[in-house]
Formats: sequence, C-alpha cells, structure tokens
Amino acid sequence: MNDVVKCTSRNIPLPIQREVRQRCGFGCVICGMPLYEYEHMMEWAEVKRHVVDEITLLCDQHHREKTGGLLPREIVEEANRNPFNLREGVKKPYDLHFRGAEAEIVIGGNKFTCKDQGYGTFMIPVSVDGVPLVGFVLTDGHLLLNMVVFNEFNVPVMHIKNNQLFQSTIPWDIQLVGTCLTIREGKGDILIEIIFNPPNKITINRGRFLKNGVEILVRPTNILIINNASFISNCSAHNCSGGLIVGHHENRIGGFMTVESVSRLNRNLEAALAFEKECLARR
Ligand SMILES: [Zn+2]
Repeated sequence: MNDVVKCTSRNIPLPIQREVRQRCGFGCVICGMPLYEYEHMMEWAEVKRHVVDEITLLCDQHHREKTGGLLPREIVEEANRNPFNLREGVKKPYDLHFRGAEAEIVIGGNKFTCKDQGYGTFMIPVSVDGVPLVGFVLTDGHLLLNMVVFNEFNVPVMHIKNNQLFQSTIPWDIQLVGTCLTIREGKGDILIEIIFNPPNKITINRGRFLKNGVEILVRPTNILIINNASFISNCSAHNCSGGLIVGHHENRIGGFMTVESVSRLNRNLEAALAFEKECLARR
C-alpha cells in the first residue's frame, strides 16, 4: 500500500490499478458501473505521482461530470471512502447488448450454434448437476445470455441473467475491458475470461468451470474435464439443446456429450493433464 511512484507518465502501473479496483469494489465509486476510468482525485498536474489511495474509479458519466465541474471533488472523495459496490453489496447490473435469431458460443475451440425455432428455444453448452453454467435463450426475437461462474468454494462470483451482468466483490479481481471480462482468483490465476461479441456471440478461450467438485478446464483449442480426463476438441453442435452435460440432471437435456457419473472425490489432476498433453501431441 501507499507506494509512491513519482513519475512523468500518466500511465498508472498495473499493480496500482489492481489495488484501486479492489478497494473500489470493481466499479465506479458513485454508481457501481463496471466500466470505468482511473481518476486521480488530486490534480495530476500538481501531484505527478501514482498513489493507490489518491486514485479512484469513475464511470464515463461521472468522470465527465467531475471534469466539467458538476461533480465536486468532496463528493468523489466521500464515495471513494465508501464505494457504491461495497456499500450496496449487490451491484447494479450492466446490460449486455445481445439480439438476433441465431446464437453462437465458442468454448475452447468447440462451437455451439443455435437458431430460434420458436418459443423457448435454448442452448446450454455446459451444464453440471442440473445447473446451466452458460447458455442462450432465444425467444420472440430476443437473444438472452445466461451464465454463472462459481469459485473453488462453490460460491457464485459472477452472474449474467438474461443479458444483465451482475459482478460481485468476492473474486480477487474482476475487470471488464472492452469486450473482455476477466475474473481472477489470485495473481496470474484466471478463473475465467469471457469475450462478448455482440450481437450474438461469446467466446471463452481460457478458464475453469467449477461446480460441486467438477472441474472443466478451458484452453484455446480444447476442453478438459479433470474428473474423468475427457478431452474435447474441434467439436461443433448445431441446434443441439445441450453441449457438455455433466452429472445428474432431473430434466434431461439432449447433448452431444453426456457424462452422468463423474467422481468428485478421486479426481486425478496430474493424470488428466498428462492425458491432455498426449492428445495435443497426437494432433
Ligand atoms: Zn458512475
């Protein structure tokens, strides 16, 4: 904390940016918006230094208001001491702009596509124990993305409900930059990276889907289910309600790969990684 970096560059060093994000609850301190800019509370021209405690997060609107003089510094400082997202607990959702009659989800190079076939069309590429982890619902011309990300403690840390993105303050770091949402559990430890390609596509090339002891690794060119060392690569499914369906599902979903029973206790990470290596070498 309080690293003073006297410098001539306005670029804030990345570790300082991260500390600011964590302190501000990953959103604008005034309204909680997950799209923000880093704001020196004291005039940059005067201080010319990057100190964690002197930098805060403001969304575009509140940044403009501050710069234009409509939002006084005292109010920003007050919000910085008690940021919206930490105060409110539940964050204000951010609306994603998905639409159309066709949807596409790419996970680890595997492609899931779907066309609206009337009311209630849905596509769930990954589901564990009856919980859809990622999917689109296509209904009446609307295209609705739904997603939930769990951490190692089986706690949901990010939710997208019908195109509304709800972050939480549980993860170590969460960042929405451009179209890319990254959730980290520690330094260099990416829980998941989601690229939104509106109007109708998302891509996941890195990360882990975790739920009830099931661990599904996502790599740029494959998926690996750790529990039973399943390697999935270069698959594509069209108009298939389910993709990778793991564990018991009360309401059965037809999928291109259904794995009813996987052990949650005797999973062997090393064996699974060795098998993945073998598969990749064979290609
Ligand atoms: Zn704001």
